[in-house]
Amino acid sequence: MTFKDLGLAPYVIRSIAKHEYQLPTLVQEKSIPVILQGKDILGIAPTGSGKTAAYALPIIQNLEGKTTTKNRHINVLVLVPTRELSVQVEEVFRSFTQELPFRFKSMAVHGGVSINPQMMGMQHLNVLVATPGRLLELKESNAMHFESLSTLVLDEADKMLNLGFKDEMDRIFALLPAKRQNLLFSATLSPEVEVVERMLLKNPTVVQIEAEKVNVEFINQVGYFVSAEKKGPLLRHLIKSNDWKQVLVFTSSVYHADLVADKLRKNGIDATAIHSKKSQGSRRDSLTKFTNGKLRVLVSTDLLSRGIDIAFLPHVINYELPRSPKDFVHRIGRTGRAENPGDAITFVTEEDKHHFGVIQKKMKRTVDMIDSNSLAF
Ligand code: ADP
Ligand code: MG
Repeated sequence: MTFKDLGLAPYVIRSIAKHEYQLPTLVQEKSIPVILQGKDILGIAPTGSGKTAAYALPIIQNLEGKTTTKNRHINVLVLVPTRELSVQVEEVFRSFTQELPFRFKSMAVHGGVSINPQMMGMQHLNVLVATPGRLLELKESNAMHFESLSTLVLDEADKMLNLGFKDEMDRIFALLPAKRQNLLFSATLSPEVEVVERMLLKNPTVVQIEAEKVNVEFINQVGYFVSAEKKGPLLRHLIKSNDWKQVLVFTSSVYHADLVADKLRKNGIDATAIHSKKSQGSRRDSLTKFTNGKLRVLVSTDLLSRGIDIAFLPHVINYELPRSPKDFVHRIGRTGRAENPGDAITFVTEEDKHHFGVIQKKMKRTVDMIDSNSLAF
């Protein structure tokens, strides 16, 4: 199934091509045609499965010929739980609207910054991405009108409810026109989410994508006992002596990710770190390069590993252990393939030994260990 098959217009397809997305993800494949038809949707799919584009793309296309010209009337409201997410989601909308045959404007609003520029920005706005509190403040100042609103999106609904936004959400729903399309996306389907679903959605299409099961059987795993000071040299030794071309390295912190990437570069190995402190643009560049084989080593934190959408990776290195065994399996999961198993390598210090034991137990696999002192590097 290609993006074209989903009924997306040529101008949307062109913007997708710029992102170098090859194929729609599962949640996109199932959601896009439904949203294009104007129907309500309940989308449950794991983090990193591409939910943002799943709603942003059809929403953009649905706006064609329907954008409001009335001042301070908005067409689409996207509610998100956090400031970071409001910025991220708005960036996604903007990145897909460079080539539209019609005028389009989107904006993110969130608390913690001055409200005045946000009030000014409401002029001729189509898509507003907002956190609930700031949206209500703006509405109280009469900054925008909802009469032309045709679509409401709740993104990360589970998180929004966990953070206690239920009251604010109810107040916002009461302000919106009754006739509208409702799209509810969440990583999990909690009882609280179901309450909102029943209240908000009319005969929704339910799209539920299960988290991919990682089959650890198909992964060549090996561990190296190594001291903290020798991790850098061991990493370089492994990459160089095996002549690996595409290596994903995990660290436990942003700081360490930068440090490891710097050190590799100083030693002539092309490496870049990606983590939450890097801009969306720079992350995307690094990922594209890495995917296309133009970047040898990508150093990442766990947070971002979920956004790394590469189906298969030959080599994953756990430079530092993650706290949770689940994250460990998630990290190494991309190397597991029946026909072509990859390598997952884990560095284990004296202090890690116990924790690595716990991880192996949880994963129900025993990992063969090599003492790095026995290697010449
Ligand atoms: P979710 O909201 O489900 O957690 P996101 O929408 O944030 O996921 O997407 C996760 C990552 O996947 C982003 O970096 C995004 O650019 C990328 N992505 C989304 N759709 C595709 C696709 N069809 N092909 C490749 N990458 C994609
Ligand atoms: Mg999301």
